Amino acid sequence: MLTLGRRRLLQGGLLGGSGLLSACAATGSAPTLPPIRARTDRIYDMAVCLRPFRAAGPRLDTERLGNTLVVHNYGHGGSGWSLSWGSSAIAVAKAMQASPQEVAVIGCGALGLTSAILAQRAGAKVTMYAREQIPDTRSFRASGAWTPDSRIALTSVAGPAFAAEWEQMARTSFKTHRQYLGLPGTPVEWTDYYSIRADQPAPPAPPAAPPVPRLDFASYSRSIADLVPKYRKLAPEAAPFRASAVYQTEIMVFNIADYGHTLLADFFTAGGQFRHADFHSPAEIAALGKRVVINCTGYGARALWDDESIVPVRGQIARLIPQPEVHYGLDYKHVYVVPRRDGIIVQDVGGGDMKGYGDATETVDRSESDRAVTTLSELFRSGLGA
Ligand SMILES: Cc1cc2nc3c(=O)[nH]c(=O)nc-3n(C[C@H](O)[C@H](O)[C@H](O)COP(=O)(O)OP(=O)(O)OC[C@H]3O[C@@H](n4cnc5c(N)ncnc54)[C@H](O)[C@@H]3O)c2cc1C
Repeated sequence: MLTLGRRRLLQGGLLGGSGLLSACAATGSAPTLPPIRARTDRIYDMAVCLRPFRAAGPRLDTERLGNTLVVHNYGHGGSGWSLSWGSSAIAVAKAMQASPQEVAVIGCGALGLTSAILAQRAGAKVTMYAREQIPDTRSFRASGAWTPDSRIALTSVAGPAFAAEWEQMARTSFKTHRQYLGLPGTPVEWTDYYSIRADQPAPPAPPAAPPVPRLDFASYSRSIADLVPKYRKLAPEAAPFRASAVYQTEIMVFNIADYGHTLLADFFTAGGQFRHADFHSPAEIAALGKRVVINCTGYGARALWDDESIVPVRGQIARLIPQPEVHYGLDYKHVYVVPRRDGIIVQDVGGGDMKGYGDATETVDRSESDRAVTTLSELFRSGLGA
């Protein structure tokens, strides 16, 4: 999300020679970009997702419920898609230590699907139990970009051990996402990205409600700076947007409709079974009588496991009717855009990491999406845009 771009720009400035931000402005002629048709009547879908945030980072420990070994794999904040493969690799390694022939996975979101597929690849027969399949999960309502340290932990709580584990998860995930590049349906792709500094300062973002003190969200991306392209400041004649400053990079995009469909299809092709289930307590999971269970219930773990360490961080996306010709994302005046194949994602990110913190409201606020799309329309209408 924007936070990654902003953080990396900030780090580039603060760290001087860190190399995250190239020192020289890139010159040359500006590319002509097809404009995004940013009109509120082109919003065809709006959805709210709750990021399952834990100050200590995702829960990956194990516990025993009678004869059942439970491996937890939940609480990935705003980074669940990004870290899915790496986190699930850790969970599956713990599960396979018990040498099970069968593994049960609870959940069919990003973490459940990747855990199930990795357990199959490790040789286990897998049954997935979940209340919802991927299109109805919270994972389906994410923005769909490589954001591995978006609201993943608090520096003061998680500590250096988690920083090392995070790097392992991020590197493993990145490698595995790459295997889905270039496939029919385009589950994963690279796309251009512009961070546009407006000539006019953005109006102050509405305060996060209820008001909360700012927290020290962990920022780890420096440790994996070798994985992704750097931001470059574009010279005015090379910038496709007329603004006080334009930075350009490339981002990895997850086309969630296709990525989810591909993962579920791969799971079934490898012989996976799905059972609809709505668990109300760990005892009901123990009653399945399985030797090993991987718990990938995301925000649902808060109620199911009575885990109040999970804090909801509300976020809302709007989808504009897809424009296959648009291959760039951007951020402009607190509006964040990801050009997915299943719709151009537009999100109001004013308030930064604290936006939506502690807010478990899952009803859509139409005015929030209308405002974001209207701000985006200014960029193109005013002649600033491509
Ligand atoms: C606005 C927004 C944008 C985001 N953008 C990104 C992004 O660009 N990149 C990124 O990496 N991450 C992003 N995220 C974060 C990402 O969406 C989450 O981290 C991720 O979806 C968590 O996945 P999960 O599989 O743990 O949980 P979920 O998707 O919630 O899946 C949980 C599964 O468990 C099942 N379940 C839960 N409770 C029970 C129960 N009691 N009984 C039976 N089944 C149960 C559910 O039915 C579901 O199948 C974003 C989040 C938000 C809110």
